Amino acid sequence: MLASKLYCPTLREIPAEAEIASHQYMLKAGMIRKNGGGLYSFLPLGRRVELKIEAIVREEMDGIGAQEIMMPIMQPAEIWHESGRWNAYGPEMFKLEDRHGNHFCLGPTHEELITTLVRNELRSYKQLPVTLWQMQNKYRDEIRPRFGLMRSREFVMKDAYSFDVDAEGLHKSYQDEYDAYTRIFTRCGLNFKPVEADSGQIGGSHTHEFMALAEAGEAEVVSCPKCEYAADIEKAEPAALAMAAEDAKDMELIETPGCSTIEELAAFMKIPVEKTIKAVAFTIDGEKTVLCMVRGDHEVNDVAVQNFVGGNAIEPATEDELKAHGLQPGYMSPIGADTPDNETFFVLVDPTAMNVPNGVTGANKAGYHYQNVNPDRDFKNVTVATIRMMVEGDACPHCGAPVHIMRGIEVGQVFELGTKYSESLHATFLDQDGKAKPFYMGCYGIGVTRTIAAAIEQFHDDKGIMWPVAIAPYEVVILPLNMKDEELAGYAQDLYQQFMAVSSDVVLDDRKERAGVKFNDADLIGYPVQVVIGKDTKNNGTVEIKVRRTGEKEVVAKEQALTRVQ
Ligand code: ATP
Ligand code: MG
Ligand code: MG
Ligand code: MG
Repeated sequence: MLASKLYCPTLREIPAEAEIASHQYMLKAGMIRKNGGGLYSFLPLGRRVELKIEAIVREEMDGIGAQEIMMPIMQPAEIWHESGRWNAYGPEMFKLEDRHGNHFCLGPTHEELITTLVRNELRSYKQLPVTLWQMQNKYRDEIRPRFGLMRSREFVMKDAYSFDVDAEGLHKSYQDEYDAYTRIFTRCGLNFKPVEADSGQIGGSHTHEFMALAEAGEAEVVSCPKCEYAADIEKAEPAALAMAAEDAKDMELIETPGCSTIEELAAFMKIPVEKTIKAVAFTIDGEKTVLCMVRGDHEVNDVAVQNFVGGNAIEPATEDELKAHGLQPGYMSPIGADTPDNETFFVLVDPTAMNVPNGVTGANKAGYHYQNVNPDRDFKNVTVATIRMMVEGDACPHCGAPVHIMRGIEVGQVFELGTKYSESLHATFLDQDGKAKPFYMGCYGIGVTRTIAAAIEQFHDDKGIMWPVAIAPYEVVILPLNMKDEELAGYAQDLYQQFMAVSSDVVLDDRKERAGVKFNDADLIGYPVQVVIGKDTKNNGTVEIKVRRTGEKEVVAKEQALTRVQ
């Protein structure tokens, strides 16, 4: 590529709205442009990086025998009604209606679509196991799209779905994807960690997140330096509490008299609100002890709700009844439902203490909402407690050693779904014994565009990006420092042709710009290798090879440049 022809509108100033390095540099280096909240265009350099990640993903999926397909982005509402997620998914789903009044969504994920796609045609155990995947735009109406590609409303996801005859088969398919993810992120050059995670809204039990470790990450990871333990902080804390929930009487609940808001509770406990979990333990009909927890800072994406079960004495509320209480249907969805005043989760606990419309409660499942709840009558022994999230130095739940807390960017996640979707969507196969059985399913996602941002967060300095070679937009830039010098320009052209004969992953900066401008742009865009053609090339026949990441420089004869770089 010739830099004079490259569409790469670099910026002098970083736009004010860009807070983190990846967002700033992608705008500044002319790789992306914003078209609306959480909506971006990829310009040539950004697109090349994305395609390189896609190619790595594709090779690794081919390697484990997963087969690429393409499903529609727009999905009919019916299949989401069938699975029970049309409302439960919450306000993150973009919904639309056609001219005939039929409802659709823009796929935030594709469990429903794939399950209904195969349910009448994948019929026999002989066809299993099978894993199908696609690379596609996903749509999520994030409550706060921010940080550029990190949390956008349209983004590229690789999503795979496995179908097996039994749990054992599923474990193997899961492990294959897990191992492929490890290879993918290693090849992309990321510094990452797979961590135990919470299955949240999607359902299922066994799940890991792949976290790229970086200060700009929105997630927190608990990591034990002594044993293997590594978990999303939201998994780590509820895990500890869930054990206590086995017998609420043995739980260390703290009485917090006079505290009716999470802020008051946090002040009472002398801890920051964002480090709190709202928790309530109660006994239904004198029998069942239930514990519910939610992170205290109202971060809808940070919500963890576990083990919350509605009572059985009360009629479920309808959507309209919920609305009458000022609640959105599906407001308990851990991924993002909301009351109008953002007080979603207070509803769960003690309605009188929590300053919300009295008498509605619910589980994190559609159809499990109840109205006319009377806390004294229906839930006994209500105790509100604030329990802090794990912090640096807390005891590891496995070995007791002091843990580290690190920030991470979730670049991928693998789930064992089990039969949740195959049962609700009636997707069965005929087993060896001639009986119809539901598929054991797994689903596996990678945030392809988020991975670009994660790589920049990990590899940049104050001049710009320092790409891992495998995903750099171009691997090499040739920098003739003076294009007006015809002899130098000729050397540069020769060298460029030599490189091009081997690989087109090279840029010749043939612009008639000053040397300083060329160096700055090369450092900003972050080509891993710079080949400098200057006076010494004319005087001694040498070129300077500079490695962007390390700053190492080496002078070699110009005839050796190509072999040296390779
Ligand atoms: P998060 O916790 O960051 O909201 P998620 O758990 O909701 O992500 P998944 O449903 O697990 O996301 O989707 C698979 C992958 O898609 C994620 O691991 C992440 O890399 C990517 N992803 C999810 N939401 C976004 C987004 N808004 N913008 C860019 N990538 C995203
Ligand atoms: Mg999310
Ligand atoms: Mg997540
Ligand atoms: Mg996830």
